[in-house]
Amino acid sequence: MTKVILTNNRSKRIEKGHPWVFRTEIEEIQGNFSPGDIVEVYDHRGRFVGKGYINPRSQITVRFLTRNKNETIDRDFFKKRILDALSYREKLGFTGSFRLVYGEADFLPALIVDKFEDVFVIQTLALGMDRFKSVIVDILKEIFEPRGIYERNDAPVRELEGLPQVKGCLYGEVPERIIIEENGLKLYVDVINGQKTGYFFDQKENRQAIAPLVKGAEVLECFCYTGSFALSAARYGAKKVLAFDSSKDAVELARENAVLNGLNDICEFQEGNAFDVLRQFYDSRKKFDVVILDPPAFAKNKKALESAIRGYKEINLRSLKILKPGGFLITSSCSHHVDDALFWEIIESAAWDARVNLRIIESRTQAKDHPILAASEETRYLKFLMLQVM
Ligand code: SAH
Repeated sequence: MTKVILTNNRSKRIEKGHPWVFRTEIEEIQGNFSPGDIVEVYDHRGRFVGKGYINPRSQITVRFLTRNKNETIDRDFFKKRILDALSYREKLGFTGSFRLVYGEADFLPALIVDKFEDVFVIQTLALGMDRFKSVIVDILKEIFEPRGIYERNDAPVRELEGLPQVKGCLYGEVPERIIIEENGLKLYVDVINGQKTGYFFDQKENRQAIAPLVKGAEVLECFCYTGSFALSAARYGAKKVLAFDSSKDAVELARENAVLNGLNDICEFQEGNAFDVLRQFYDSRKKFDVVILDPPAFAKNKKALESAIRGYKEINLRSLKILKPGGFLITSSCSHHVDDALFWEIIESAAWDARVNLRIIESRTQAKDHPILAASEETRYLKFLMLQVM
């Protein structure tokens, strides 16, 4: 098997369990290979480090699949990993709909599998994993006997791997709409045309955490997508919820979700740009008890960081200005490049500009079906703060 030899002077990140070998960490490659092949990785002294798949086109040149030299990367290997991922979620009480495989954190790098009742949505985001797509589909069929398996490989990160943007049905039938249940709400999910895989499971536990803050409240939400936070707020006793999203499709589905749960008297969904909406409420001196912000990743990469910081600052500052004293700002960032410390710095600076004091009620992260691999900060991305304005 082809051997990848690591440089001597690199940090011990990989030994500590980080799942990637960067191009700059490779001293030499011994033997022939095609992009996507399985290779063995050795340190400069010839000690075995692990096995993974290689793509010389990507800065992340090798992603580890195993650290065990005797483990063969075959169908059984993938089946075991997927069963491990399932049993972890079952242990934590996940049933019905959840993220079944969260890439590196489930030791299946670049593989995402979301389970929507009996429909599965998969993403293979690197070349080496893409090669095993049909094996993965076959295993999902065997374990779950699903109604359908759909591929949402229309993710821009695939371009870094030289992979095309594709989506489509890989097995069985996939309806345009699936109804899932979350924290007692019923929600339509559109896995075919929705964003990413169709639904954001990562905020599940956070949507529940808002319960004590929204009772009897007038709530504003600015990036509502198909309405999960807004409907959760209504379900937990909010008096009135106004929710906006810039996507017309999202707002339409959110309205249907409100009807589905009999919450359409409490929740009102409208198309609108968060930056404008927040400014208009400020100008009209309208105040809310709770503002919820869950924007898309403003910083998709390091280069976009400066403008992302401005964006986060602006929406949080504007939200603070339209909150009643004693009101709550519930704010998130899913940009990996904005870490906890930076996100807090942004919020502090917004509070300073708004001349308010903040109390941190709770600082949370992504749901447990998106586990965080201690050795890989990349697997931790969601920041979620519940703050009180004083
Ligand atoms: N809170 C949602 C997920 C939000 S994802 C949930 O819990 O499911 C981010 C959403 O922001 C997307 O639906 C996207 O359409 C929307 N969006 C992006 N830019 C926006 C803007 N400037 N104003 C309002 N919505 C925006």
